Amino acid sequence: MKRELYLFLLILIAGSQILRAEEGMWIPMLIEKYHIEDMQEAGLNLSADDIYSINQDCLKDAIVIFGRGCTGEMISGEGLVLSNHHCGEGAIQSHSSVEHDYLSNGFWAMSRAEELPNSELSVTYLRYMKDVSEEVSDGLIQGMDPQERQRKIDQNSVEIVREAIEGNHFSAQVKPFYYGNAYYLFVYEEFRDVRLVGAPPTSIGNFGADNDNWMWPRHTGDFSLFRVYADGDNQPADYSLDNKPYKPRKHLEVNLGGIQEGDFTMVLGYPASTSQYLHSEAVRSMIEESLPMKIGLRSQRLGIMDKHMLGSDEVRIQYSHKYRRVSNAWKKWQGMILGLERNHVVDLKKEEEAAFQLWVEQDDERVMKYGELLEEFSELYKEMAKYSVATDMYGESVMAVELFRQIMAIRSMMMKGTDTDIMKSGMDRFFKDFHRPVDVDIFAAMMEAYEKEMPALYHPEFFAEVKKKFDGDFHAYAEKLYSKTVFANKESSAKFVETWSVDQDKAQAIFKKDPISICLDQFREIFALNITEENRRIEGKEEQVYKAYMAALLEMSDESFLYPDANRTMRLSYGTVKGYQPRDGVVYSPATTMKGLMEKRKQGHADYLVPEKLVSLYEDKDFGLYGVNGSMPVCFIASNHTSGGNSGSPVLDAEGRLIGLNFDREWEGTMSDVFYDPDLCRNIAVDIRYVLFIIDKYAGAGYLVDEMDIHTAE
Ligand code: ASP
Repeated sequence: MKRELYLFLLILIAGSQILRAEEGMWIPMLIEKYHIEDMQEAGLNLSADDIYSINQDCLKDAIVIFGRGCTGEMISGEGLVLSNHHCGEGAIQSHSSVEHDYLSNGFWAMSRAEELPNSELSVTYLRYMKDVSEEVSDGLIQGMDPQERQRKIDQNSVEIVREAIEGNHFSAQVKPFYYGNAYYLFVYEEFRDVRLVGAPPTSIGNFGADNDNWMWPRHTGDFSLFRVYADGDNQPADYSLDNKPYKPRKHLEVNLGGIQEGDFTMVLGYPASTSQYLHSEAVRSMIEESLPMKIGLRSQRLGIMDKHMLGSDEVRIQYSHKYRRVSNAWKKWQGMILGLERNHVVDLKKEEEAAFQLWVEQDDERVMKYGELLEEFSELYKEMAKYSVATDMYGESVMAVELFRQIMAIRSMMMKGTDTDIMKSGMDRFFKDFHRPVDVDIFAAMMEAYEKEMPALYHPEFFAEVKKKFDGDFHAYAEKLYSKTVFANKESSAKFVETWSVDQDKAQAIFKKDPISICLDQFREIFALNITEENRRIEGKEEQVYKAYMAALLEMSDESFLYPDANRTMRLSYGTVKGYQPRDGVVYSPATTMKGLMEKRKQGHADYLVPEKLVSLYEDKDFGLYGVNGSMPVCFIASNHTSGGNSGSPVLDAEGRLIGLNFDREWEGTMSDVFYDPDLCRNIAVDIRYVLFIIDKYAGAGYLVDEMDIHTAE
């Protein structure tokens, strides 16, 4: 009986693996070994070396980490880099004011002299990667104390990094894969002079805004253009007027030939984080507890920002980027809950765990190694429950207050003994986009939510004062607090920096006594006393349990099938241009055109405003080189497995040419970070023809298109 069940479950797992064949974010270095044949069979016309090689220039050399969290790609031999509008938005917004509203009107440099420098932005190239699992494990002994073990791993990693960057200007990182069952070294070259070249207005770059975010069908021109500069020797340099456009080792050819359903596609980029191997209990608590709570808190925060942004253009500009950062995950989480429930992922995981246990029990050695694992998971999640609510609450309520985050930034600058100038520019940046009434409202709402959700043991002392002196009115308390603190006001903050420049001890004393700093300290103390240590211990345990589980899964399946979770390292995924069926009786086709954009415009919703010039180009069918049979392609979807961080990644055709710019996933597939369903999960890209149409016909910046290598259909 048991054996029958085992066979049944194995078939079930194998079946689900076949079903999930398009799933995966693969390590570029291992394409040659594991995937190239499959990719070629699916239509790829390149060799593995054309994609990743350390001996020849290849596609990986055209891909960059854009800023801190996105991907970008080189599209000309003169340093032109393409990424999403939502990735460049921070930079675009930093140059915007009510007089120069580049968010509303777009920005186009009509010559190189007009390109705008961005002190906060860099792009980073992967120069090579290497498997260092053995070196990292050097000196590790069976049964070693986990902390000592980690210390050894860290020491070894530091040494590996030191060797990799000795005598050069590269940076390097050792990263764990498969929960620490393998380690890879990544060596990077960072360029710090990156200038804004062009951005469409938000009504194009974020067309559909929140209404359409994480949705298909889509009509968003989510792109922006930058240029990388280097010194006279084509080497990275700080911003200087003497710098020259960087000549990258490789840039992408642009294919204007268009896409057809079924065409091979691949995406190269930097997916940030996925959790494909979660235990069923982790998925359950995510769906039922953690995400609903986080969504609720963000709904309140967004409502507050919205109210203030609607009332003033200045506040709208200050908060547009912040709003989007908060709303992006907020909406995605809602889609994830729906998708995970609809796919019964908790039950599926439980079935997989049962099959796993039977596999373990087939062999004495496995029983020794993995026999207790599922038990350990249960204990782990029991222990974790209490602490995870507290950490979620801290992250989403206390850290939602801008002024608390600012206090943390100032504290860290003081601890580092930061120069006055740097501290001053940090303060200036903060106040450029800070509107006190927004933060007062957020403070009041978040503290109220915290008080309600968390047991009294975790309440900071100042809650008692709110009750006693303010009759429990957090808003009245916040008004008072923000009028008393040094740090909610530009002038008094500037004075503080002055004090810091002449007397650091005095500045420290002012900081310590400041009422907002005291509030934050009370939270920090509570967490230090009750949570931090315990949390660390549990996290250590979690790492060990998942590491063993992952080792077992690797042993149980074919290594070439199990991909490591995303961790902000370069990955490749491949699939095809493909529609899907979101629900019974409904079929989505894989591409959209401007016709749909104009239909949305007719609905009159504020998220669907279309610039007049775009309307007339459409009405005149003035699509230049970029239209097809009188229509203008806008977006398409494909079955490439992507995640956050893949924003701005190139979607490439079978020859490695650029056909689209990845920017999103769709509603029914947002759960793909936890569970990828090939029938439902699609990445969304803006068609490269629409990008070039906007640059050339809408913005009149065709000189930029002239810089690119364009391939047109024969
Ligand atoms: N739009 C997404 C993001 O903001 C990209 C994705 O997750 O697919 O990260």
